Amino acid sequence: MSRIWGYTGKTGPEFWETLCEEFYTAAQFPWQSPISLYYEETQPLHETIEFRYGPQGFYVKRVNDTLHFEPANTVSFTDFAGDRYYLTDIHFHMPSEHMIAEEQMPLEFHLVHKNQEGKPLVCAVLFTLEKNSSNRCNNKSIELKNNETEKQLLDPMIFLPAKSGYFHYEGSLTTPPTEGPVQWFVFDQKGVMSRFFIERFKTSLSLNNRPLQEKKQRSIYYKE
Ligand SMILES: [Zn+2]
Repeated sequence: MSRIWGYTGKTGPEFWETLCEEFYTAAQFPWQSPISLYYEETQPLHETIEFRYGPQGFYVKRVNDTLHFEPANTVSFTDFAGDRYYLTDIHFHMPSEHMIAEEQMPLEFHLVHKNQEGKPLVCAVLFTLEKNSSNRCNNKSIELKNNETEKQLLDPMIFLPAKSGYFHYEGSLTTPPTEGPVQWFVFDQKGVMSRFFIERFKTSLSLNNRPLQEKKQRSIYYKE
């Protein structure tokens, strides 16, 4: 049973670890997410993450003020460091949780993956909002329906910037239970969403970003 948690008041981020034993235990993982990323702090990443995504069906679900797009099957996965991680969920945060060079963006998408042991790998893509723009990343248009009754067809590749560098570090989930380790990949090329996208989803969604966490002693990598 997951406890009720949120982003404001008595169930807000600063109280998550007091809400139940499970959340408390998860919060003891020392390297929490999100964090603020700086190029100067990174070391080169020698391994590459490979994406094997394909067009597939997604279900739309609403959990704790966040819309989730859940793959209907295991068509899409990624390979990193000799391990395979299957795409399990796509959702977004407003405003962005990670910061790059002290910049916060209005929107951050998370593509959540898990390997066979259930270990998570999350890819984060930050988006700007433009007034009269189409939704696009990588010159591909993004169409999302806020419709919980219908399965929708999407190629998750549309969320990934094609020629982007990315940060890589070890952190935690940014929603309770905030357990780790999570392999994080944060892309530095941004996508673009129209304000209309936000308006369409915002009616029932409020801000849902966890505040920045302490970096402590950890290595942060960057791949150009
Ligand atoms: Zn997230």
